[in-house]
Amino acid sequence: MRFDSDYRMTLGGALVRSEASLKIEDPATGEVFAEAPDASPGDLDRAVDTAKHAFGGWADLSWERRGEYLIRLAEALLDHTDDFAALLSREQGKPLAEAAREVRGLANWLTATAAMRLPVEVHEEGSERYCETRHVPIGVVGAITPWNYPLLLAAFKIAPALVAGNTMVLKPSPFTPLTTLKLGELASTILLPGVLNVVTGGDALGPMLTSHPGIAKIAFTGSTETGKKVMRSAADDLKRLTLELGGNDPAIVMPDADPAALAETLFWASFGNAGQVCLASKRVYVHADIYGAVRDALVAYASNVRVGPGSDPETQMGPLANRQQYRTVIDLIEDCRAQGYRFACGGVVPEGSGYFLPPTIIDNPPDEARVVQEEQFGPILPLLRYEDESDVVARANAGPYALAASIWTADPQAGWVLGQRLKAGSVWVNESRPLSPHIPFAGHGQSGFGVENGVDGLREYTLPRTASWKRLG
Ligand code: NAD
Repeated sequence: MRFDSDYRMTLGGALVRSEASLKIEDPATGEVFAEAPDASPGDLDRAVDTAKHAFGGWADLSWERRGEYLIRLAEALLDHTDDFAALLSREQGKPLAEAAREVRGLANWLTATAAMRLPVEVHEEGSERYCETRHVPIGVVGAITPWNYPLLLAAFKIAPALVAGNTMVLKPSPFTPLTTLKLGELASTILLPGVLNVVTGGDALGPMLTSHPGIAKIAFTGSTETGKKVMRSAADDLKRLTLELGGNDPAIVMPDADPAALAETLFWASFGNAGQVCLASKRVYVHADIYGAVRDALVAYASNVRVGPGSDPETQMGPLANRQQYRTVIDLIEDCRAQGYRFACGGVVPEGSGYFLPPTIIDNPPDEARVVQEEQFGPILPLLRYEDESDVVARANAGPYALAASIWTADPQAGWVLGQRLKAGSVWVNESRPLSPHIPFAGHGQSGFGVENGVDGLREYTLPRTASWKRLG
């Protein structure tokens, strides 16, 4: 079974077309294959109004009852895993197996978060006085997602927002709106009308949503540059905010690591989803003693990676997700060439249609290189040599981002000690991106504001309300 190709927004439980439309490209061919609604200001008003209208009734349900709705949505999603995976792979470019993992991830986030609670904190409980703090929902959440993981990053927002009693207007990226529209359509058959609304549109829609007076909280994932605009826009009426932003994550390979044993994991830590991952290792620092061996092992692994369309079951790395990101990465490749940096592998842009690029490794460029300083968000990786631990810590900690960092070593305890010196919201030894609905995930520095996931992430969708009573006389 495949979804039909009629893409409509979900507003108050109704499926709605718009007057204008967005053209959606298949990144494997560069051809337009679908159209999505381009919401008007009136469509957005309707989405926010209907979410406001639904808020009271939804917030009044018990946490258990709201959790049951989320679990039913998760079950329905799993029944349609193949449909969602095929569409996600088509609009985003990722291999089918990865797309299916993302769909299952969304279902897992809904189910796991449905079981979480924020207990009432009782501060005083006597016959003369009682005082408590409970966590009440905020109102209508405006959620904005990027194009690299449209479903998973929506899950990080939908699950805690709804289980805590908020309603939502969700806006995906104009590059990948289709699976989110189908998610809204599916949710409209399960959730109460107005609880989850999906709007799609072009560049004007995000600012309209973040400045809308009916939105009480914004949950945003995207670039740091856009995150700053969102924060400014939220200031006018002090909307609550969670921002998950860009990263330029360092990985440090210690001298005792085994190059052959870690090549595969380290490769995918950088090149998973064609490098389009906020938490990808984007600068890999390797100790001079094993620099050559690690480089050669990564290059050998890269040479066997199958780059191709996501729909081909043999594909391990799909195309870049859109023309804009493809051009950004090509620009970095050209800059490396113009500066005379050495290419350990890749760097040749294939002929033909589609936004395909090979895994590209730049061999020890200077720290000032653009490919080191900038978030590449694509399949190009600078491999950097270091000799001294304090020096590598200083280099890893340089720059405005502080999302995650990883250390690779035969001695996890030594990696742990080194990790404590790194500036990042998540630090991993010998693993990459072990995300879980139960574990908080926060960007430090200019990589974010607030927390997603875990009980801390759930709390971000509530406001503390303290109440007390006292006996008179
Ligand atoms: P982007 O900032 O260009 O767009 C993100 C979303 O914001 C899109 O839906 C877009 O339409 C919307 N938007 C654009 N301008 C807006 C505005 N002025 N106001 C409100 N919304 C606006 O990011 P992108 O290119 O889609 O995604 C890539 C970026 O996202 C990378 O920097 C990556 O690191 C980051 N990212 C971060 C995380 C994280 O959890 N920290 C996860 C995934 C991606």
